Amino acid sequence: MELVEERPYRYRIERRGPMRVPGVVFASRDLLADAEQSLEQVANVATLPGIVGASYAMPDIHWGYGFPIGGVAATDLDDGGVVSPGGVGFDISCGVRLLAADADRRTVEPALPAIMDGLDRSIPRGAGPGGVWRMTGPGQLERILRGGSRYAVDEGYGEQRDLTRCEDGGAVADADVEQVSPRARERGLGQVGSLGSANHFLEVQQVAGVSDERVAAAFGLSVGQVCVMIHCGSRGLGHQICTDHVRAMGDAMSRYGITVPDRQLACTPVDSPQGRDYLGAMAAAANYGRANRQLLSHAARRVFEKAAGVGLSLVYDVSHNLAKIETHTVTGSRRRLCVHRKGATRAFPPGHPDLPEDLREFGQPVLIPGTMGTASYVLAGVPGGDAFFSTCHGAGRVMSRHRAARAVTGRELRARLEADGIAVRPKSWRGLAEEAPEAYKDVSEVVAASEAAGLCRSVARLVPLGVVKG
Ligand code: 5GP
Ligand code: MN
Ligand code: MN
Repeated sequence: MELVEERPYRYRIERRGPMRVPGVVFASRDLLADAEQSLEQVANVATLPGIVGASYAMPDIHWGYGFPIGGVAATDLDDGGVVSPGGVGFDISCGVRLLAADADRRTVEPALPAIMDGLDRSIPRGAGPGGVWRMTGPGQLERILRGGSRYAVDEGYGEQRDLTRCEDGGAVADADVEQVSPRARERGLGQVGSLGSANHFLEVQQVAGVSDERVAAAFGLSVGQVCVMIHCGSRGLGHQICTDHVRAMGDAMSRYGITVPDRQLACTPVDSPQGRDYLGAMAAAANYGRANRQLLSHAARRVFEKAAGVGLSLVYDVSHNLAKIETHTVTGSRRRLCVHRKGATRAFPPGHPDLPEDLREFGQPVLIPGTMGTASYVLAGVPGGDAFFSTCHGAGRVMSRHRAARAVTGRELRARLEADGIAVRPKSWRGLAEEAPEAYKDVSEVVAASEAAGLCRSVARLVPLGVVKG
């Protein structure tokens, strides 16, 4: 794929054939080498009806279903813009939340083994069922689908302040539970309050360095402080919704005269019945994912309280797989857009009205997991951010799960991590091996490229003390 270097860290894929806009890839030269294969997907996304600006790729781009993971595409609602489930992904509203302990590493250290054992027992994960909240039945599931974290907090799983630190106040409006199929509900009912498989995790971390004292202080972070990072999504419920609606859109697409270069890019106009149905179901799954992170936070809080008398307060909770209706300025005019972020994180700039009041002047906290053996980052949105205020979402894979599991066994990996002082509580050895740090790009390089490209700025670097894996 031919790329034009517009400036350092920003490359353009020229419009050709059915592409309606160019592609724009944010990356360093080294990262670009890893991205090669997925650039075809960036070009494919550029053909979607109503797409504005460009088809964007973040520095952690890798191959995905239809859209690349690390892709951002916005379509104009008033110009036939489409919504595509492949632009959100199967794990709808997968995302990250960070909690800050009111204690530093030295205080927590003696209790760390007890904390890790407590988390091991109380965090449901793997392919199995959820926990934390014993569901009374389908009525309760509907309330989760409508109310997200807000409903979980109302039922006693958290504090009101948590909601001010969640994207959308903990629940997206417009969930349409009618569009969630019986099969999706069935899958969802059994998995409320669970992490899922091994790319999802709950990690105890320590702030190892702060690159912006003022913003870190506003986020409640300081060097040495213990934190908890949770990465999970909407489990089988989100997966089933994606499957159901890709099928429905694939069948309906031709009625709108839409052709796409890849069946996995199935889409229909945002305001078509199929588009509205998908967005309603997607919102329900987004609320489910948020409630899930809320419940797991509650379980972690109980463990920290009991084992160490330490409290955890929410820094922020943000999705990295979602389509949202947002208003942006495009070539001088305000437009209503459907912004797809798939493996990309929203990064609103300082002053944005949707940010919590106490954080507004600092920009949105952006939470970037790296790997269980290296580091993770807290970033912030910047004025004039690019790609509809989006940035990376992680280190991004370079090795398939299969290859990673052949390169190292879970037991070897745990021994290596524990020798580095990182406690490991896996559910499955295979799952652990699939997530070996060497299966991912260098997260520091991804963050540096995102920052240099003008997408965000770095606030704090976190290193793992212990990881609970699916
Ligand atoms: P995804 O949402 O694409 O599955 O994963 C997001 C990111 O999480 C990955 O790109 C990777 O950088 C990161 N990640 C996966 N496993 C772990 C882990 O155990 N600990 C940390 N800190 N990050 C992880
Ligand atoms: Mn996920
Ligand atoms: Mn994720």
